[in-house]
Amino acid sequence: MKTRVIKITDPKSQSFDIKEAAQLIVDGEVVAFPTETVYGLGANALDAGAVQKIFEVKGRPGDNPLIVHISDISQWHDLTDEIPEDALLLAGKFWPGPLTIILKKSDRVPMEVTAGLNTVGVRMPAHPVARELINQAGVPIAAPSANRSGRPSPTTALHVLDDMDGRIPVILDGGKADVGVESTVLDMTGEIPVILRPGGITPEMIEEALGHVRIDPHVMSPLDGNKKVRSPGMKYIHYAPKAPVILVRGDLDKLISYINEETQRQINAGKRVGILATDQTIKSYGQGERLTMGDRHKPRELAANLFGRLRKFDELDVDIILAEAVEEKGEGLAVMNRMARAAGFHIVDL
Ligand code: AMP
Ligand code: MG
Repeated sequence: MKTRVIKITDPKSQSFDIKEAAQLIVDGEVVAFPTETVYGLGANALDAGAVQKIFEVKGRPGDNPLIVHISDISQWHDLTDEIPEDALLLAGKFWPGPLTIILKKSDRVPMEVTAGLNTVGVRMPAHPVARELINQAGVPIAAPSANRSGRPSPTTALHVLDDMDGRIPVILDGGKADVGVESTVLDMTGEIPVILRPGGITPEMIEEALGHVRIDPHVMSPLDGNKKVRSPGMKYIHYAPKAPVILVRGDLDKLISYINEETQRQINAGKRVGILATDQTIKSYGQGERLTMGDRHKPRELAANLFGRLRKFDELDVDIILAEAVEEKGEGLAVMNRMARAAGFHIVDL
């Protein structure tokens, strides 16, 4: 299959190009499209066969559910049986935007979408190309991130092409993703809403809106053994560049010394070392392949750059990556959650 990349600079005047991708969705095909979080790999959420193709193309484990993307609140009512007041309030405040809300699913949602669960995660993306695509297709679109399973999520059309060339007919190119990490996943099926995956809508923002929210303990710690998970995605290796990642956490001076010493040790052993640093610290390292995620006091900037930098280390062909931890506040929690997973929870605490 030949994969075509279609650049969309103005969704309104290029509605003809988007129509073509929407038609593919209607015909049961899988296409990649930009959202404000990361690029998505979309199919008609109401078509079990089309959804099945997403799992095949991506190499995604069959028990990891997909998020359904909508462009209109009426679609949400169709996908769920009952929407509690609090959920409507959050949707009113944060949609369109990077918040996925999990509720009991309706019979309309095929089991393929939810991987057998009786709940469904829904969000309304803000990216104009995503909204236009959903509008034109006239159906909700189920979509995971458009990377091959286990790889860092794609934040540009080129990242998608790297992973999906020859596997899908069309990639809509809507520029670099704004947020850069996947949506916040919020389970609203219980008494108190629980964040299963942190993202652009922060715990602080949800707390302010509702007065209460919990963060699932597995956001920053690995699962032990066979414990039941609330979000199947927590089980899997994620976001991993080709080289192993070590996340180094602690006082900034100690952290810099540790990374410098470890870099020297690895170089002595004949290894190519990647250092994932920040604007404030990058000059403290004298050797290795050094990349900055941005200003360590601007977690939004760090989130926007993280996955692109992880993919860059693949190009640089490093053998090991030493990554600086950042503060787990605001979007920083999402950044740390992705880094901890990319490192397989190999964290050095100083
Ligand atoms: P992705 O689409 O690749 O960003 O992954 C979607 C994430 O949302 C995964 O971590 C899933 O496990 C999680 N998710 C989606 N639907 C549900 C659901 N119904 N219950 C719990 N987690 C979900
Ligand atoms: Mg993903």
